Amino acid sequence: MKCLAQDSQDAALLLDYCERRLEPELAAQLERHLAVCPACARMVEAQRTVWEALDVWEPGAISADFNARLYSRILEMEAEPAWRRWLKAIPGWHWKPAMPLAAACLAILAVALWRGPAASDQPAGDDAIDVEQVERTLSDLDMLQQLTAMPADTSAPEQRY
Ligand SMILES: [Zn+2]
Repeated sequence: MKCLAQDSQDAALLLDYCERRLEPELAAQLERHLAVCPACARMVEAQRTVWEALDVWEPGAISADFNARLYSRILEMEAEPAWRRWLKAIPGWHWKPAMPLAAACLAILAVALWRGPAASDQPAGDDAIDVEQVERTLSDLDMLQQLTAMPADTSAPEQRY
C-alpha cells in the first residue's frame, strides 16, 4: 500500500478509516501501513484529537437579546451609504493613511483650477511665474500636511462651529 499522507485524495481514505467506514480488507491494509508509517499515523492521531475536542466542546449560550442586536446591526449596515460599504469590503482599506494623499490631490486640483483661466493670458516660457507657483503649491501642501497630522481631538471642537 502506498503512503496516503502524500496525496490529498488518498488522505480522504484516512478520514474514512477514522470514521470506520472502510471495507474490513482495506482497513486491515491501512492498519498495516499505519504501523510502519509515522506520517499517516500522525494524521490519524490528529484527526482523532480534533474529533474528541469537538465532542467535548459545548457552544456558549446565546444571550436573550441576540436577535434584536443582530437585526439592529443589519439595519445599521443597510443605512450606510453604498460607497462606504464598498470601501469596507476592500481588504486592508483604511481612510486615515489616505488623507495626506487626498489633501495633496485637492491642493493640486485647486492650483490647477485657480490657474486654469489665466493660463492662456500668460506668455509661453515664463519660467519665473512657474517657479513662484510651484513654491506656493509646495507651501500649501506643507500646510495641508500639518493640518491632517493634527490629532483628531484638537480639531473636533473647531468642527462644531
Ligand atoms: Zn503513510
